[in-house]
Amino acid sequence: MEETIFQKIIRKEIPADIVYEDTDILAFKDVRPIAPVHILIIPKKRITSIAEMKDEDAAVVGKMFLVARNIARDLNISEKGYKLLIRVGKGGGQEVNHLHVHLLGGARLTENIHPVGEE
Ligand code: AMP
Repeated sequence: MEETIFQKIIRKEIPADIVYEDTDILAFKDVRPIAPVHILIIPKKRITSIAEMKDEDAAVVGKMFLVARNIARDLNISEKGYKLLIRVGKGGGQEVNHLHVHLLGGARLTENIHPVGEE
């Protein structure tokens, strides 16, 4: 399995603007934000995508959503609302093959899910 840039961020080999960390989860600001708040929440364990997720990953994936909820609360965007986005595979637009939830908020968000062509 090819190494991803997110594994280098987990090992602190490349810098990231980390907003939360525990033994299972890391959250950091997206380097190319598409909303005023744009944070990526990732498991430290390598899970390639939701399509590759194993039954035993359910707890850590659930924890990713709790972390997203807590960060949204801390940033005071819970009340207005926000978007959680997970892309799955090439056809879903996933570029980094390490599972990540995008936490997007701080503005009224449009549906940015238009097909861009054939796979
Ligand atoms: P996706 O298209 O869902 O796989 O999203 C990958 C996201 O990772 C994109 O929004 C990128 O801007 C973001 N990204 C890629 N490299 C980095 C990095 N070194 N630090 C922070 N975010 C990154």
